[in-house]
Amino acid sequence: MKKKIIMGLFVLAAVIGMGFAYPRPCSMCFGSGQQTCTRCYGNVYSKCPKCHGEGEEWTGQFASNGDMVMRRCLRCDGVGEIRCSACNGEGTRTCNYCHGTGSIDG
Ligand SMILES: [Zn+2]
Ligand SMILES: [Zn+2]
Ligand SMILES: [Zn+2]
Repeated sequence: MKKKIIMGLFVLAAVIGMGFAYPRPCSMCFGSGQQTCTRCYGNVYSKCPKCHGEGEEWTGQFASNGDMVMRRCLRCDGVGEIRCSACNGEGTRTCNYCHGTGSIDG
């Protein structure tokens, strides 16, 4: 038991002595293991590209009174916003640099 602690201290001292504190927190995600989604920047929802946030789209037909006949946008289901597909609506993604571990060990 005591030997293990001494060994640990020795390794720690060696690491510090070398000037490299491994494992160290990932500089890309600051040790969290998660990065803000680069697609939506954490906003998760973005304006639907099909209906431009209107929630409905033109069917291409006109009603008898001349109004455009609209239908609910199928892409966003009438919401006008779609959830980010890059992060599945999480707003964050697993850090590519440390693969979600939050530290770099080498
Ligand atoms: Zn996203
Ligand atoms: Zn839409
Ligand atoms: Zn990271």
